[in-house]
Amino acid sequence: MSDAVKAVVTHTAGAKADGPEMAESRAEDHQAKREARFWTGPFYNAGALHDDPFDKLREECGVFGVVGHPDAASLCYYGLHALQHRGQESAGICVAGGEGFRFHRGMGLVKEVFTSDVLRSLQGTRAIAHVRYSTSGKSELVNAQPLVFNYRGGELALATNGNIVNADELRRRLEKAGSIFQTTSDTEVLAHLIARSEHDDFELAVKESLRQLIGGYAFLIMTRDKLIAALDPNGLRPFVMGRLGDCTVLASETCAFDVIGATYVRDIQPGEMIVFDERGMRAERFAEPERRAVCSMEFIYFARPDSDIDQINVHTVRKRMGRRLAMESFVDADVVTAVPDSGVSAAIGFAEQTGIPYEIGLIKNRYMGRTFIEPSQSLREQGVKMKLSAVRKVVEGKRVVMIDDSIVRGTTSLRIVNLLREAGAKEVHVRITSPPYMNPCFYGIDTPDRKDLIASSHSVEEIRRKINADSLHFLSKEGLLESIGRSKTEYNGALCTACFDHDYPTIIGTEPSVSCSTK
Ligand code: SF4
Repeated sequence: MSDAVKAVVTHTAGAKADGPEMAESRAEDHQAKREARFWTGPFYNAGALHDDPFDKLREECGVFGVVGHPDAASLCYYGLHALQHRGQESAGICVAGGEGFRFHRGMGLVKEVFTSDVLRSLQGTRAIAHVRYSTSGKSELVNAQPLVFNYRGGELALATNGNIVNADELRRRLEKAGSIFQTTSDTEVLAHLIARSEHDDFELAVKESLRQLIGGYAFLIMTRDKLIAALDPNGLRPFVMGRLGDCTVLASETCAFDVIGATYVRDIQPGEMIVFDERGMRAERFAEPERRAVCSMEFIYFARPDSDIDQINVHTVRKRMGRRLAMESFVDADVVTAVPDSGVSAAIGFAEQTGIPYEIGLIKNRYMGRTFIEPSQSLREQGVKMKLSAVRKVVEGKRVVMIDDSIVRGTTSLRIVNLLREAGAKEVHVRITSPPYMNPCFYGIDTPDRKDLIASSHSVEEIRRKINADSLHFLSKEGLLESIGRSKTEYNGALCTACFDHDYPTIIGTEPSVSCSTK
């Protein structure tokens, strides 16, 4: 019996105490909810990433917040720097000071958006900040966050990491009721829900509004006198709280604390809303926690290796994934190498487990930056060479094990395998630290169309042939869960693995919205 079926059986068995009718109705309700999770639509995120020669999945956003520091904007600046891997399209900081909000947003990297003059102009003790990811053709300053509004209750700023699954439906309802949207961002939906709430009390309005959202999200919400942090009821996106002297900091990842010298306090809990105001800090709930489901791709690929998620270090998990891969799919070889950067920790683990030496066989060009020249097709095909180079002296004449985190379309894997072969590798054995990625993500990760996910329509052997590898192995789901080792007692190790097994932790509905950023 699968874990999912077991969960249903356990649930219905537990309901027997309420009598057969109640149990039957609960079972039907549960079944309906499960079916609603199984979206079968053909496409998702049409057009995303098509021109990117390096077709990795992309994290949507990162958030950072400060409460009670005289130079809140500078802390945000350094925090955003540490979160830059979560989004390179735009950055923004909104500060609440004595004279109201001051904010600055711009397109580009954090260092490009903020000068010292700009930071000096952002005076205030409380702030929320955001970095947003980049895809071609979707860059619009209007969607850069924090989004800032004026409504009947005064100034309101919002920043989020994640995605609201029912944003389209809510947006239609709000527009019918008279709301005029300024952006295409689903984050704005929450602003309108708050503004239209019947509650005059701001906290009640936020709670009521959050309860209407379905999806994975970490929100920072700020008014002139309050800052609120809220995490979705499944805890899909990482969200942590830290301390720096008397000041509290909030961030998508703990690596943002290290850079400013803050210490980790705790993870924000699913369905939790933490309020900061003149009365201090209060932890409240806007929803009961649902099935715990931290995004497993954060451990596999998105998060920085020096970050901890739920106090589990990401580098350590990746090393365990490499060890487990070695046990599941040993191959005799001369050298283990990684596709940088996310494959490095796992490659070290694979090498430790097998005794095959780890070597740097691929080098990433870190200074690519943005190119404003539209590349021709042939140059685009060369794109991977601009981003990665093989180290000939390391791989020439060798049997190489190449460790990567995932295969999305397969085009990048083919190019990297060919890079190694062109540099003289005798054999290339590909080992992937995740199960086959075959389902779209609805919770804030930019995923290509389902039809473009190679694993959704090809067997492992077919993928091996397509990427020109001598052998190919994906980490098993059991291997993934055990490597993360998050919770042996909770369903699925308290992780979301929907992109591998289609077991979405929330209702998906029939019309999924697209991202925390734009369509
Ligand atoms: S579907 Fe995959 S990428 Fe999306 S939240 Fe779940 S594990 Fe993460």
